Formats: sequence, C-alpha cells, structure tokens
Amino acid sequence: PTAIVIGAGLGGLLAAAQLSKKGYQVDVYERLALIGGRFMNIEYQGYQLSTGALHMLPHGDSGPLALMLKSLGADVTVIPSVPMATVRMPKNSADTDYSNGFVDIPYVEFKKHLTSKNKLMMVLLTFGYKIRLVRPKNTMFKPWYSKYIQDDRIDRCADSFSGWSLSTTADEVTTEEMFTIFDNIFKYGGPGIVVGGCKSIIDELVRIITENGGKVHAKKEITKILMANGKATGVAIGSDEIYADLVVSDIGHKETWDLCDPEMAELSGYGDYMEKLKKIEPSAGLKICFAIDEPMIEHGGVLLTPYTRRINGMNEVTNADPNLAPPGKHLVMAHQRTALDRLDKIEEEIDLGLADLKDLFPSKKPEILMIQVHHGKWPVNRAFSGQDFGNTTPIPNMFIVGDGAKGRGGIEVEGIALGVENAMNDVAA
Ligand code: FAD
Repeated sequence: PTAIVIGAGLGGLLAAAQLSKKGYQVDVYERLALIGGRFMNIEYQGYQLSTGALHMLPHGDSGPLALMLKSLGADVTVIPSVPMATVRMPKNSADTDYSNGFVDIPYVEFKKHLTSKNKLMMVLLTFGYKIRLVRPKNTMFKPWYSKYIQDDRIDRCADSFSGWSLSTTADEVTTEEMFTIFDNIFKYGGPGIVVGGCKSIIDELVRIITENGGKVHAKKEITKILMANGKATGVAIGSDEIYADLVVSDIGHKETWDLCDPEMAELSGYGDYMEKLKKIEPSAGLKICFAIDEPMIEHGGVLLTPYTRRINGMNEVTNADPNLAPPGKHLVMAHQRTALDRLDKIEEEIDLGLADLKDLFPSKKPEILMIQVHHGKWPVNRAFSGQDFGNTTPIPNMFIVGDGAKGRGGIEVEGIALGVENAMNDVAA
C-alpha cells in the first residue's frame, strides 16, 4: 500500500515512520526547505534555538512520545527534569509582584502556602475527581474550581501552568482536559530535555522513514487533495498529480479541508464536521531566548513565574544538555501565552516580557538572542487543548495528525504522539 503525508512536522514524521514500518510506501511532502516544522533547531552563534518547542518533552523519557520513539527504534536521549518544576513566589506573601524579592519553591511545596481550608478543599476536589464523585462536564477549569476555592495564589499558578504548557489561561481549558492532563502527569511523570534538542528526534525519524524505503521531500507544497467517489485518491503539487491509497495530513483539520474540493463540503453528512471546523482556534505565544555566562535557574526543569506581567515560565535547557550553547554559556527559553486580541499590539507584549526578565533576574544582564511570535499558521498549538476532535475526517482514507488532532490530556508533543497512535488504530480499522 502507498501513503502520502502532508507536512514534515513532528506529527507527520511520526505517522510516516509508523506507516513505513507497517509496510506502506510512504512519501512525505513538506512545503518548506526545512524539515521538522515547529520542532526543529535553529543554530545561531553556537546556540541551538528552535522553530517552536523549547527542547522539552512534557512527560520526559517515559511519556507517550518517548515510548513511541523507543518502539520505532529511534536513538534519542531525554534527560528527566529534576525537580520537575519550581515556582517563583514573592518574598513577602502579601506582594503581587517580585519587586521586593522572591523565593523559588519546589512545586510540591506550593500547597504549604495555602490556608488550611483551601488545602483541604484542593485535596477533596482532587480525590473526588479521582473516585469519580466529581465529574464536571462542559465547564472551563478556572470558573469551575473558583466555585469552591478563591485564592489569588492558586489562580496565578493555574494561569502560569496553563500558559506555560498549553499557551492558554486556566479559563480557556476545560476542566475535563485539565484533569486528564493531571492524570497523565501522575501516569507518565514530569518533563525532560532532549539531548541535542528537537533536531535529534526529527533526524532520527527521517532516518527511520528512509531506512524503511520512504522519502521525505522538502520544498514541495501540496496544493490540492484529489478525490474520487468520496475517497482521497492522492494530492497535487501544482500541476503534478500523485496518487496513493492513504492520505495523512499534519496541517490540521481546517487547513486540510481547505485543500479539498469545495464541492465536497456541500455533500450531505458533513454538516457536523463543518460545524466543528468553525470552532477551531490556534493558540498564540511569545518566546524569548536569552543567554548568560552563569546559571540562571540551576535546574533543568520548569521555573513557573506566576507573579510576572506576562512570562508564564522558562527552562534553562543547558542544565540538561550543555551543548545547546557554546562552552561556558547558558541558554534559557522563556514562554508567554499571548491573548489573541493582543496580537495587533505585539510590540507592547514583547516589552512586557522584557520588563518581566528584569524583575526576574534583577542583578543579571542576559543577552537576548531571539524573540519569536507564534500565531495563525505557525502557532503554539493548532487547536486549543481540549478542542481537538479526533483524527478521522468524513473522507474514509484521509486522517489528521499533529497538534490540530491531539489525543486527550496530551500536552503539546505528547498529545501529538497520542493522536498519531489513535490515527494508526483508525487506519488499521
Ligand atoms: P508543524 O510542526 O507545524 O508541522 C506541519 C508542517 O506542515 C510544517 O512544517 C509546514 O511547513 C508543513 N505544511 C503546511 N502546509 C503544507 C502544505 N500545503 N504542503 C506541504 N507541507 C505543508 N511542545 C512541547 O511538547 N514542548 C515544548 O517545549 C514546546 N514548546 C513550544 C514553544 C513554542 C513557542 C511553540 C510555538 C510550540 C511549542 N511546543 C512545544 C509545541 C510543539 O512545537 C508543536 O506542537 C509541534 O511542533 C507541532 O508539530 P506538528 O507536526 O503538529 O506541526
């Protein structure tokens, strides 16, 4: 059998590697000269910066992505982050910013900073959820828990965690999705940094695909999905037509559907799908990469920063892999969720992030290496976490992978791996 994969991002390459191992003759077509999409290194003056991801796998070396890579035979090393995360709290508990100093606490100690009543409430809600007494449906996370707990510290930490890991606020993610994310953290563990950065994983996937007889073609933009009798028969690249038994797309449901014949949308039975497509929103974010001669965070996990204006958190990737920066230098990547209605004021958002850096490291002078804004067709997440609606389409032999079709409770690339696993089950069915 033959398969065409649209897009050589992480999702497309994972799907292609799986299919090529199953015996499909796979061709991956990538619009850009660069393979890897938003999961690739950008080398700059000896620093391994990136096109998107912060070289971090949300569930480290035992999560869905790491397990899938192992099963494919990929030779990658993921260094677990210990501790998983610390939280930067203001020195004086009454302060609402870091102007009077701060203290970094392990995330597990966060509960100690709450009142006894709220501590008890948190335990009850978590336990209630686990034993299925509490199963909130169709609610967003913050409005839901605020009915039971009002605490500025919890609100800030919830937003900081959501902003860092999902590029949303805690108002923008459903309670169900958030609890599934927590379940997955218990199940798979915390994050880890990939040795060599995102590129190591992409290079290994390309190697596996090629060794199994597949091909990854750069600078080939798919301009149309060909159809006959309600099935996908292949793709067009300009005037060239290429035929295959299966089409897998890594560019999201909406963008994939845009490549299909518009008349298909008129056909009966697609109404539900078309309604779902209208609701998809990509999440936006801003990344600041900076360097310094001395350690800034002193661990390879996440530093959550709930008391800033904008920055949600950061990781010092060289604490896990010193080779991600030139000798003697340290590389830190800070992330801030960006509200969609602030994209037209992005210069102000950048200034707020840079002002945060001054408060977070008052006595240090970091060198800013790169500032990236991610939105629209190069977002942080093609669909807000929890909005994903599976890997199938109304076309029986056309499937969607990538961060527009993540598996439940899967943070970013872990969601992509869970989605690819689901898609492969759908293909087999
Ligand atoms: P993409 O990487 O976007 O791949 C899709 C590919 O399809 C692209 O290369 C595109 O050029 C190509 N394409 C588009 N249209 C066509 C066409 N018509 N024909 C051919 N090719 C086409 N995740 C984590 O797990 N950990 C992190 O630390 C992390 N940090 C992040 C920080 C930032 C700032 C950003 C932006 C993202 C981060 N993410 C992180 C998310 C992660 O990077 C993405 O979820 C993931 O890389 C998306 O992969 P994908 O394969 O779904 O899509």
